[in-house]
Parts: sequence; C-alpha cells; structure tokens
Amino acid sequence: MTTTQPRLVVTPSANIHSDAERAARMSKLSFGRTFTDHMVVIPYRDGAWQQGEIKAYGPLSLDPSCSSLHYGQAIFEGFKAFGQPDGGVKTFRPQSNAERFNRSAKRLAMPALPPELFMQAADALITLERNWVPQNVGESLYMRPLMIATDPFLGVRPALEYLFVMFGSPAGAYFPKGVKPVTVWISEDFVRAAPGGTGEAKCAGNYAASLVAQAQAEQKGCDQVVWLDAVQREYVEEMGGMNLFFVYQQDGKTTLVTPELTGTLLPGITRDSLLQLGRDLGYGTVERKLSVKEWRDDIAAGRMTEVFACGTAAVITPVGFVKANGFELTINNGENGPVTMALREALLAIQHGTAPDAHGWMHAVC
Ligand SMILES: *Cc1c(COP(=O)(O)O)cnc(C)c1O
Repeated sequence: MTTTQPRLVVTPSANIHSDAERAARMSKLSFGRTFTDHMVVIPYRDGAWQQGEIKAYGPLSLDPSCSSLHYGQAIFEGFKAFGQPDGGVKTFRPQSNAERFNRSAKRLAMPALPPELFMQAADALITLERNWVPQNVGESLYMRPLMIATDPFLGVRPALEYLFVMFGSPAGAYFPKGVKPVTVWISEDFVRAAPGGTGEAKCAGNYAASLVAQAQAEQKGCDQVVWLDAVQREYVEEMGGMNLFFVYQQDGKTTLVTPELTGTLLPGITRDSLLQLGRDLGYGTVERKLSVKEWRDDIAAGRMTEVFACGTAAVITPVGFVKANGFELTINNGENGPVTMALREALLAIQHGTAPDAHGWMHAVC
C-alpha cells in the first residue's frame, strides 16, 4: 500500500454470492457475463481524485446530460489476474495497462490517474475477490478499468468531473473446444482509425465505429474484420480488437512481422510481450508496414507460413482463412501453426506461473 494515496474505503456488499452460487457460476465460465461481488469507484472533481470506495457491484447513477453519454469521453482497459501453482494470485503487466490508460486519457482530454492508485485499486479489489480467480489453465479473472465523464453539462468541452471504475469478470478459456483458426474479412468499406485520430487510444468510440464493419464481416461468413490503413487502404493494421502477426520461414530462419505502430494502431501489451518472447525463442522480429499485396504474394510463395492475432482476452488466435473483395487465401491449410502455438504456450506458461518470469511481467497480488 502506498502512502501517497488515501486508502480505498471498503463498504462490503450486502448481497454476496454464496459459495454454492459462486461455484455454479465458475463452473460454466464464458467471457464477460459474470461479475464479482464488488467494484472500485473513484470520483474526480475540483481538479483532483477524491476518496475512492470498494462497494457492491451494481448500476451507476449518471446525470443524463453527462458528456460520456453524448460526446464519448470514455476510455477503458483490460488485464488479467491468474491463479498461481502456489495458491497465490498474480496480474500480468498491470503497470503497462495503467500507463496506457493515462495515454488514452490524455488523448481524450481526461485527467491522468496516478498509476499507483490504479495498481492499489486493482490489488485491493482482486484480494477481496480472490475466490473469484479461476484456477484452470486458460482461465483468469479479467479486470476492466474504465473512466467516464460525469458532470451535468451539455456544452462541448472537456468535462470537469469523472468517475474511475474497475470491476472483475471471471473468464473461461476463450476456446473451450480447443484453439481453432478464425476466418477474417479484409474491410475496404470501413476504416477503424485515421492519422491524427484516436486509433492509439483505448476509447469507447473506436469500438462503436467498428461494429458495423464486424457485422459486415459476419455477413461475408467471417469471424472477424481486418482493418487497413485509412489513407492508402493498402497496409494491414489490426484484426477487430487484436493486433496481428505474420510468421515468415526463410533459409531456416523464423521471423515474426507485425505492423509498426504508426499512431493508428492500438499498442497492444500482448503484441509487445510476443515481440519479446519471439526474441527469447530465437525468432527474428520486425515491426514494419505490410501490405495486402505482400500478404497474398508471400502466402503464394510459401514465405509466409502462419498468421495470428493477439490480445489480452483471447491471448493468441490463429488466422486460417482470409476473404476480401476479389480473393481468398488459406493459411497453413487452415490449421494451427507451430510458431503460433509455441508462442501461445510460452505466454500462457508465464501467466499461469509454470515457466520462469524472466522479464518481471507478473505482479504478485495476494
Ligand atoms: C485492447 C486492444 C488490443 C490488444 O491490446 P492488449 O493490450 O494486447 O490487450 C488491440 N487492438 C485494439 C483495437 C484494442 O482495443
């Protein structure tokens, strides 16, 4: 516990799930449907973060005029807590999420939250809710921090009052039936982010703008949408809410290529971790622009052997099939590739505490 921040006041919920109810919920976990008993709320007003509270998870009370509801001053994060073999609980790179949260806040003209307060809130909530941390490999307690503008005013300007909220959601294995490659649709009709826009920020509006493209991808028989750059509509940026990696095999050498952070991509913490793990495994790593034409040519030539997407929620998702206006590609016969699966295993092993944490990514909570 740091000394610079006031302690969070804990007001226990009067309505805690019984052990039996919790066990029933934890026995059939999916993603994002079950929430633990408590949440953190910290208000910001008069230019400062006020006394925070851990209280019963439940609806927030908002003035209908608050600008988060109208003009979208709203940001969020996502990170995970994992049960460890010794019975403890650790979070994966939460400090990186705290720092990215503040970069998003800055882009949306919102106040920074001291990273110590972010960490303190996470540790206190997870410690209180430790019975909600699942133990099986692939499962975790997914933590969702967010900040919204709350002051009652319809004018367009940065709000003066905000609410920081953090809650937890026990999450099951993303692929309950085993990892299986997805089919992606390359979107030419919609873009996610333009230069100078908010593509780098984890803000609510980016997701609102993406939903119609995702719906179109599904209409085309695909699972996910792939975004191209907004200017040339040529370079690959991301897949849905995940970053992309392309695996090359040339002259006996394995190289991971991922689109460079141009300002329109979300700088994923999983992306950053996999670049490091790739180097640890002896692969080359390159961050550069990669065009759709190269994607097609390099698959055809056999140089590009695997493609996968990565993010906190699903960790790593292989991409098996690509569809676009005028062409289709099959990658690695539509099967999980060895490099993809090696990276996935390596990251999960660190997160679940079965491999050494060489980079100090795991933060001990309780
Ligand atoms: C959150 C997010 C990612 C993945 O980031 P992680 O830190 O790895 O979870 C990638 N793309 C978008 C658009 C995102 O919102």
